[in-house]
Amino acid sequence: MSCIQNPDEILSAVCDALKRENSFLITTHIRPDGDSLTSVLVLAHVLKALDKDHWIVLDDPIPAKYRFLPGIETILQVQNARPLTRHRACVVMDSSTLNRIGTLAETVQKCPLIINIDHHHSNEHFGHLNWVNGDESSTVEMGYAVLTRFGIEVTQEIATLVYAGIVCDTGCFRFPNTTSRSLEICGEMIRKGVSPKFIADKMFYQKNPDTLRALARALDSMELYFNDTVGCIHIRKEDLDSLSEADTEGFVDYLQLVPGTKVNFFMREEAKNRYRVSLRSKNNIPIDEIARVFGGGGHAQAAGCTIEGTLPDVRKKILEVLRRRLD
Ligand code: 5GP
Ligand code: MN
Repeated sequence: MSCIQNPDEILSAVCDALKRENSFLITTHIRPDGDSLTSVLVLAHVLKALDKDHWIVLDDPIPAKYRFLPGIETILQVQNARPLTRHRACVVMDSSTLNRIGTLAETVQKCPLIINIDHHHSNEHFGHLNWVNGDESSTVEMGYAVLTRFGIEVTQEIATLVYAGIVCDTGCFRFPNTTSRSLEICGEMIRKGVSPKFIADKMFYQKNPDTLRALARALDSMELYFNDTVGCIHIRKEDLDSLSEADTEGFVDYLQLVPGTKVNFFMREEAKNRYRVSLRSKNNIPIDEIARVFGGGGHAQAAGCTIEGTLPDVRKKILEVLRRRLD
């Protein structure tokens, strides 16, 4: 495990490793989102420029809404990418734990060099080289720092990836992780030809009618607890039809619109007696601590976990933990 603390030194160490090794496996967490997908694609651009062998392999399929990202077709799913054992180095991006990369964890663990690049405060430093900075807006911003360190030309494709990843993890520049640096980078990406409207529409403002119907059902389930400071909504499997998890991304954010709520959560039935939970916090309640009680994790203001049980059980479990935290 690396003992380098200074962000600039660790960035240099990461760049040295990318120059030194020749064959790379790049991966990210299960249920990939905009930041994770753009991060791995930006890193692939770096490795392409350095003329290195590299494969991007993921455990889960790519959600339809991210298929507009340039280069997305180069990402392989694990079942189409065997054998994976010949890689000298693995780069794991945007994943706070090794478990979060799913079945690929076993392959990655055997790799002689694991490079861990992430912006989750809770990152478990599972790599041989760990570049972890919880103050970064997004992992793609870290990928962009690598790209610029090598002086690689930012094409319109790369600019689209960087802009899309930052927009995604900052919630269109609304979340507190939005820094002046993120906005400066995005300004630069617009100068490189990015269309902010195109990207915002693709990622946030285009919903198919089934998604809107599911949203209506979810919002209809709204309940408020603890003097209306905690809001929750849910959706049952039978109401999801063929909708994926990516389609219901952002449902929880509607609860955040209620001024008095401090914490909000959305429970999505994934299988019988199993719920995926999205938690959001507005104030200073670090919601990742709540998610961790159930084996999940995330950021202080946005976190997630999976909880087994019936809907009333799951809701009760979360409310009990929240009650103790809000007291
Ligand atoms: P979402 O609610 O959008 O699915 O997730 C919010 C954030 O929480 C994600 O950006 C991710 O960092 C984190 N997250 C979601 N689910 C999990 C989980 O099961 N485990 C961990 N460690 N983090 C999660
Ligand atoms: Mn991220």
